Amino acid sequence: ILSVRDAARHYQSGETVIRALDGVSFDVFPGELVGIVGPSGSGKSTMLLIAGLLELPTGGCVAFEGEIVSRPGGSIAGLRDFRRRKIGFVFQKANLIPFLTAAENVALVLQIDDVPAAAARLHAERLLAALGLGERLDNRPARLSGGEQQRVAIARALANDPPLLLADEPTAALDSVRGRQVMELFRTIADVRQAGIVVVTHDNRSLDLFDRLVEFSDGRIVAVTDNRPAARPASRPGAA
Ligand code: ATP
Ligand code: MG
Repeated sequence: ILSVRDAARHYQSGETVIRALDGVSFDVFPGELVGIVGPSGSGKSTMLLIAGLLELPTGGCVAFEGEIVSRPGGSIAGLRDFRRRKIGFVFQKANLIPFLTAAENVALVLQIDDVPAAAARLHAERLLAALGLGERLDNRPARLSGGEQQRVAIARALANDPPLLLADEPTAALDSVRGRQVMELFRTIADVRQAGIVVVTHDNRSLDLFDRLVEFSDGRIVAVTDNRPAARPASRPGAA
């Protein structure tokens, strides 16, 4: 679903060039859960912003389903609709709208896409129920635990069924039990929906769930670990 080729992101800071990302290539196939790990400042978040079409690379390119969509000199504004249809984002903080209920937070993204209110509501309820929040539909964020809020954020990211989900340290604010649950949820979403999922994580307790771990250091990939080769099909129809 996603191919990153030789992606670079350099920032000019006075005389010095900061190579936040320096020639990174990797692929994410449908149904794969890919982890990005590495020390602070190694370029993980920068990678996610570029893969998520929120920033342009200064070198290399990003392709979706085999087609190059982002390269230096392109237009982030021009990618907005494509991004909305194809990519769901989950961040460290759930960033829910505080005065809307769980169901309203999820339904809102569908209504922005012109889904009628009643249908959006029904879809939001089903999605939240599937994520174990069937009893929390009408709670506002302040009356949800951190783990529940993060699950609402995941439901929101999944609402329009994007083929790619990107998450930047989604469990950092959660205790280990809730963090594990969220990671298991990503695993299930990858398996059931065949979504490609990329998760930046420092949480090494859940690494067993990932198909592949991509380790960053100084803006480069220094190691790739195939974790679950037996669980993956030998051929991947419709891949990339
Ligand atoms: P962390 O684990 O702390 O979140 P990270 O791996 O996500 O770190 P990035 O946020 O991608 O790291 O940053 C990579 C490098 O790029 C860092 O040296 C950072 O200071 C630099 N950087 C990131 N964004 C900018 C920017 N907008 N301008 C200048 N430098 C930046
Ligand atoms: Mg980061």
